Amino acid sequence: WMIIEKNIIFPLSFIKNLNFLKEDRKFLIKELEDIKNALFKAFYKVKEEKEKIKELSTKDPLSNLYNRFSLVDFTDFFIKTHKRQNEKFALLFIDLDNFKDVNDEFGHDTGDEVIKYISKKISDSIRTNDIVARFGGDEFVVLLSHIKDESYVTHIIKRMQENINRPFRLNEINIYITASIGISIFPKDGKDYTTLLKNADIAMYNSKELGRNRYYFFTPELNDMTKERFYILNLLEEALEKGYYELYYQPKVDIKTNKIVSCEALIRLNDPKTGMIPPDKFISVAEKSGHINSIGKWIIKEAVSQIKKWENTNLKNIRISVNISPIQMEDKEFIKDIRKLTYKVDRKKIDFEITESLFLDNIDEKIKIIQSLKELGFTFSLDDFGTGYSSLSYLKKIPFDYVKIDKIFVDDIDDGKNYLFLSSIIDISKRFGYITIAEGVENISQLEKLKNLNCDQYQGYLCSKPLKADDFEAFFNSRHL
Ligand code: C2E
Ligand code: CA
Ligand code: CA
Repeated sequence: WMIIEKNIIFPLSFIKNLNFLKEDRKFLIKELEDIKNALFKAFYKVKEEKEKIKELSTKDPLSNLYNRFSLVDFTDFFIKTHKRQNEKFALLFIDLDNFKDVNDEFGHDTGDEVIKYISKKISDSIRTNDIVARFGGDEFVVLLSHIKDESYVTHIIKRMQENINRPFRLNEINIYITASIGISIFPKDGKDYTTLLKNADIAMYNSKELGRNRYYFFTPELNDMTKERFYILNLLEEALEKGYYELYYQPKVDIKTNKIVSCEALIRLNDPKTGMIPPDKFISVAEKSGHINSIGKWIIKEAVSQIKKWENTNLKNIRISVNISPIQMEDKEFIKDIRKLTYKVDRKKIDFEITESLFLDNIDEKIKIIQSLKELGFTFSLDDFGTGYSSLSYLKKIPFDYVKIDKIFVDDIDDGKNYLFLSSIIDISKRFGYITIAEGVENISQLEKLKNLNCDQYQGYLCSKPLKADDFEAFFNSRHL
């Protein structure tokens, strides 16, 4: 603009003011005026184009939401204004749970339509001063301005999830979408864009872990947890080959005879840096990362070699129970692997403990696997009975041999109502013909009560904590002189 002003407009008006100009000079001025107008036009055209390009670079063309570049600017703007007013805002990280399936099953065009539809649903759920951006593929970020408390955020999220979850039809297909949401709050969970985004992402990941279609507020513990899980994941990469695992054995006692009849193999992870890591901390990481399959095989191999070692000792009749994760059973080679690993021993000596979570999907397939393993001689225990869902229907459907009643029922045995409940579940499981085992028995009074209820076996610190194989053998011998 300044260039046009200096080189054309000024000189032109100067020439015009020279009123002694001759006729032929007037022609020249006319030409110059034309050039000036053309330049003006060009100038405005450039300005218009520039605005269009700016719009394109701030918006995501598919959803017409802001893109991740403008999200950075908006968050910085939110940080400035909220800081000045001493107010809070929330950053929501939204990830669709099953979008990949939609893409795989119905193609990318339908996938694009779904993104457009969901984008609108998210935009419809917020207020005018809030911001929605498409962060990437099926990820969105929402900034909720001026929030008073968490319950306000929860209120908006619930409305959003309701909108997203509502099934809709697209090209004759019924589509049902759910989303997992993580939330971070300025300034509590971060004072800059990167931290707020990272923490909302961590919280979102936790919602997914908890079972999808949920929301979760970031907490500092979550951050520690993520770090811990990451540390464990790295450790699992080398734990098998470096020999960090060890099997411990916890006795199961026949309540009538007070004899040890069996034991449960419980895995331990010995980290040379931090010491022993309990299974509750690493099994879920191993399940998510797939390491559980190789660990599971190692456990069975180890238990088999223990049975072999005990064959010529006083412990020749001791059976070993091995915990099996649902992930292991999903492996196509599961039965084949087990056959290969156990051909050297009497398979009747091996029991598999499984939990009800195994039957959440493909129940008929799982029953088939159990049946074919039972034909080989193995037995099955239903672990943690009473803590899951619709337990009774599983008792009816699945050919178990043992039912292990969860520790929580034994803990509260002195509570009258709980005692009634415990006595009913022992009764039911016995009526179905299962051998009933109480878990987590810690004192004599609990044992006495279980005896009165005709419970068959118990396991717990009252007899012994889980022991290393050699210690277990010594303990067994000292008890059965
Ligand atoms: P679980 O199968 O229910 O194992 C019983 C847990 O209760 C064991 O914890 C055991 O040490 C503990 N326990 C036994 N008696 C008592 C008691 O009297 N008082 C108290 N407070 N606790 C008692 P552990 O070994 O830490 O195992 C925890 C869970 O980790 C197991 O629960 C099982 O779900 C899983 N796990 C352990 N070993 C394996 C394994 O080899 N494979 C798989 N897939 N999971 C395993
Ligand atoms: Ca168990
Ligand atoms: Ca258990």
